[in-house]
Amino acid sequence: MAHYRAELTGVFGDPVDDNPTCVLEEAAYAALGLNYRYLTIKVLPEDLETAIAAVKAMNFKGINLTMPHKIKVIPLLDELSEAAGIIGAVNTVINKDGKLIGENTDGKGFTTALKNNNVTLSGAKIMILGAGGAARAIATECALNGASHIYIVNRTQVSGNELARLINEKTKCCAEYVPWTENLAVPADTDILINATPIGFTPNQMHRPDIDYDTIREGMAAADVVFDPVDTLFLEECARHGARCFNGIGMLVQQGALNFTLWTGEEAPVDVMYNALAKELQG
Ligand code: NDP
Repeated sequence: MAHYRAELTGVFGDPVDDNPTCVLEEAAYAALGLNYRYLTIKVLPEDLETAIAAVKAMNFKGINLTMPHKIKVIPLLDELSEAAGIIGAVNTVINKDGKLIGENTDGKGFTTALKNNNVTLSGAKIMILGAGGAARAIATECALNGASHIYIVNRTQVSGNELARLINEKTKCCAEYVPWTENLAVPADTDILINATPIGFTPNQMHRPDIDYDTIREGMAAADVVFDPVDTLFLEECARHGARCFNGIGMLVQQGALNFTLWTGEEAPVDVMYNALAKELQG
């Protein structure tokens, strides 16, 4: 019998026009010959409830949420994963037989990308620049993966303190807020330094986080959430001081790969996804 109906997935956001996730998910669906679509959909904040009802009504397999919906979506869902519950934000919804389950794969994507490159999280001392949504997801997942200490650096004290408190209360990891002072020194015992702010994102690719790059230790790992440009000034400076560097594409691809598996039940063709995105972003 003919089967013309496509399975639907996608992303809800506003602004969302420049979100590149469709490139890697569509490449993965094509590689496995799956009749799935990934749609980039503009959803205004006041329309989120209707849009989530449509996920059920139109039998979407699942959906990604981006700004400004990651927190507001929570009361509209049926269940939350452990990580999404701790983080307090959802970037992925899975439609399991009409039940909408909220997950957060941002942090898992980040930790998977590091682990695949033999960076050890268990017992690691980590410094995270930023305390927004990406930092919350990354800090939570690093803590759940056994990080021993996390320095949370943020210019706004309230959110920095709040993230440190969250990690201390909800995980076994010890977290401490560090005010973001000028030319901030990276503590010598840091194993992994992470930029979880948008500093350096196009069109501000000449910007870099204000830290003392001379305090970066040879062999330290440095990771950026910024994926456009792929080679940020932050990573260039860290590499110049001997750090092993990991760009934002790894996190984006790995969270996309996790979402792919959650929605299709198939193993994700990670190389296909990475190459499609790298080609798109590097031209
Ligand atoms: P949020 O707006 O939630 O948080 C931004 C954080 O960056 C805050 O802590 C903010 O500090 C800090 N910040 C922003 N501008 C500056 C500045 N000029 N100087 C110092 N601190 C600054 O954003 P998200 O956490 O959701 O996203 C952060 C970045 O991560 C974005 O660029 C996003 O595209 C990227 N991202 C990448 C992913 C990937 O897969 N590679 C996945 C998810 C996000 P304050 O509290 O003081 O305002």
